[in-house]
Amino acid sequence: MKRSLVALALVAGICHAMGGAAPVVDSRMTFEEALGDRMVPDSIQSRLRLVAVRYWGFDDRLHEGQILCNQAVVEDIEDLFELIEKIRFPVRSAIPISRWNGSDSASMAADNTYGFAWRGMWGSSVPSWHMKGLALDINPRENPAFKKGRVFPPDAALVPGAPGTLSDTSAVVRFLKKRGWKWGARWRRVQDWQHFEKPLR
Ligand SMILES: [Zn+2]
Repeated sequence: MKRSLVALALVAGICHAMGGAAPVVDSRMTFEEALGDRMVPDSIQSRLRLVAVRYWGFDDRLHEGQILCNQAVVEDIEDLFELIEKIRFPVRSAIPISRWNGSDSASMAADNTYGFAWRGMWGSSVPSWHMKGLALDINPRENPAFKKGRVFPPDAALVPGAPGTLSDTSAVVRFLKKRGWKWGARWRRVQDWQHFEKPLR
């Protein structure tokens, strides 16, 4: 017990000496853990990659998380989070949705950012780009979705200009658009402010 405390103190000291506290670890899963228990076909699984990302949280501390996404967008995700860290756009957490057993509503309620999810579009059987790891939802509580007069997650609100909130002029939106991602904020059926997708075949 004593020895491990000394070791901890040493590690803390080294981290401090290196210029700051160690990042808060939000997610450090294996690929299998990130994929979860859902029956995902091999043809999809083989294209998914688990990307380690860093971001500043709303607590003003550096965090470490993971995004499970399609291999075709790994570079986009890495470059996006490099930007997110640099401009200190706050992200609540970036954790594969398997943490919530694939439940979008539970992940949204936790304000979590994620890519791959084995689910269709809301309220329909239409496949979502999340199923191919070609979609990304960012800070859903700050950037809720509006559908037929309802808001998702249910108690969220869009407060323009608030930290972590997206807008037409925000660097995150402009970066993703430049890389060919579409933003869901202005869709007709649902205004999905948290949602981006890159429709690659
Ligand atoms: Zn989405």
